Amino acid sequence: MRELVREHIKSLIPYQSARSEFEGEADVYLDANENPYDFQFNRYPDPYQRKLKKRLADVRGWNVDQLFFGNGSDEIIDLLVRTFCEPNKDAILTCKPGFSMYQFSAELNQARNDEFELSSDFEIDADAFIKVIKPEHKLIFICSPNNPTGNAIPIKTIKQVVDKAPGLVVVDEAYVDFSEIGSCLKEIDSKKLVVLQTFSKSFGSAGIRLGVGIMDQEIVAILNAVKLPYNVSESTQVLATQLLDKYDKVIDSVLMIKKERQRVSNQLIKLDVVLKVFPSDANFLLVKFDKAKEIYIHFMDNGVIVRDRSNLLHCEGCLRITIGLRKENNRLLSLLKRFDK
Ligand code: PMP
Repeated sequence: MRELVREHIKSLIPYQSARSEFEGEADVYLDANENPYDFQFNRYPDPYQRKLKKRLADVRGWNVDQLFFGNGSDEIIDLLVRTFCEPNKDAILTCKPGFSMYQFSAELNQARNDEFELSSDFEIDADAFIKVIKPEHKLIFICSPNNPTGNAIPIKTIKQVVDKAPGLVVVDEAYVDFSEIGSCLKEIDSKKLVVLQTFSKSFGSAGIRLGVGIMDQEIVAILNAVKLPYNVSESTQVLATQLLDKYDKVIDSVLMIKKERQRVSNQLIKLDVVLKVFPSDANFLLVKFDKAKEIYIHFMDNGVIVRDRSNLLHCEGCLRITIGLRKENNRLLSLLKRFDK
């Protein structure tokens, strides 16, 4: 994998922080210019989040050495582009419509973003996709389940792409816990595969900013050398550990959201203004409306905010609606019924 890394990063001497230089336990810490008085977070965090990684690896059945954490998965996306794409030379390959952060990171890092158009039902034609792969595609991003469309990409398709990719295939599984298909990790064993998950969705902790990458150990080592020393705060590590202590509640919430997704979907398709509810493996529904703009404003005027996705490819007239609490979903449905009349 090292051969894929940008030339100047291969020879980069990683920044040595106090806490990466000394890794053991000590009685007295006078090495990092911290305030010795205990304000709860007066000490720098573990730069490699070892305890939290061990805990998460146990809960999810992963190999701890394959984990990399970021300040949200957004940070990991940016780090990957920064590490592997030579500006004005290399490129990423993404799907359209898709999550716009990949394109943003590419632009920020002066890498080209080549877009593959999904079919009108948001599927990837694997043969056509493979044909557009070029040697400069250091990173291929596949979002599954896809945002904003909600559908999961078959693991067989992902496997075909991994086989043909000249570089890494980043499968963004931010919404995977809401899907029946499950993670591609259980079926694909390749050094080229990088899977991204996050504490922001099923784990109900968007505010703590914790993104999770599962990848070959060699890539973990490379990203560790490139990342800022303390990219995941101590408060985040503490709160994530506390959350893992009540992991059964996380699972319960996912089940409730999936049930609500089904109920809301069933209710929506009965309404005249609803032209289509796209099948969803995520915690949101992409819904095609007659008069989408007016409905968006009607929601907003009544204190309910959804996401207007109508300017994206194949999404004309579509709003993306996150599944909320039952009473929040009922409020949305009753607003729509009022609009229907
Ligand atoms: N990937 C996808 C597909 C997303 O939809 C989002 C958030 N909207 C992210 C990644 C970013 O997640 P995080 O909060 O971990 O940065």
